[in-house]
Amino acid sequence: MKVNIVSLTCCAGCVSSFLNAGDALLEILSQDFDIVYSPTFVDLKEVPEVDLAIVEGGVRTEADEKLIREVRAKCKILVALGICATHGGITSLGNVISVKKLLEKEYFVPETSKLPELEDLMYPICNFVDVDYYIPGCPPMPFLIVHSLKSIVSGKPPIRHQSVVCIECNRKIIAAKLDHLYGIYEKEADPNLCLVSQGFMCLGSLTREGCGAPCPRAGFTCFGCRGPTDSLLYRSRDLYSFLVKVISKRTSIPEEEVKKELYRNPFIFHTFIFSKFERFKARERII
Ligand code: SF4
Ligand code: SF4
Ligand code: SF4
Repeated sequence: MKVNIVSLTCCAGCVSSFLNAGDALLEILSQDFDIVYSPTFVDLKEVPEVDLAIVEGGVRTEADEKLIREVRAKCKILVALGICATHGGITSLGNVISVKKLLEKEYFVPETSKLPELEDLMYPICNFVDVDYYIPGCPPMPFLIVHSLKSIVSGKPPIRHQSVVCIECNRKIIAAKLDHLYGIYEKEADPNLCLVSQGFMCLGSLTREGCGAPCPRAGFTCFGCRGPTDSLLYRSRDLYSFLVKVISKRTSIPEEEVKKELYRNPFIFHTFIFSKFERFKARERII
């Protein structure tokens, strides 16, 4: 199978994660998986026609849009790799301010610089082309990438992960009695209890499983890099209200107080995975 690996606007961390898959990567490369185009691996300027294209990053420039349309036209199966490509992800955080302010105030770029012109918003690739499979994560874990690609290459449907990170986390959830919330560096975490039950803002209860919960297992809060689960995507898009309810249940702090706490304490991280799912109707394709 001939494969293109393409990077749009992003940090290139997803392809690095794929490279980090060790023996599993060697195994897939020794099978029917022939990378013919990739700025990371292969010096080829023209995008060739292939069976499979793997795309990391989202669309922020005219060149991104042109490239993703060309890539889609020249492949049979298109896989969006990483939350930038699947949902917009961390690169979409720039959507909260204007391009002018983003360049001047956040990146200190003088007007005379010759940068590619940025579009007003950053979009996931499904806003421009049809996507066959989505592998979210920032980056997706190496084992998840390789297992999913192995299934796709062999023509089998990849395993879907439809539940939440909490089911992969070995911490015990209790209804604690707390007065306020904490930033993750403000007190030492109990290694066995759910981080939310201890007053930390862990997003595991909203976030799609499949990563193995490395963050809460290591004592750090989940920041939601796998994006929302099927049920949250389609039944209720109000992730904020859902999160407030979960925190209130696990800490016994009333919901109105939880809302105040989230903004009172500057040590509580606020992470949002931006979604501009204008054409995103295929949850059965999210791995
Ligand atoms: S999903 Fe994360 S790791 Fe992957 S390209 Fe985007 S920012 Fe980088
Ligand atoms: S909220 Fe976080 S710490 Fe608590 S069970 Fe879920 S993933 Fe684990
Ligand atoms: S635990 Fe959360 S932040 Fe960490 S890899 Fe999994 S989904 Fe991403």
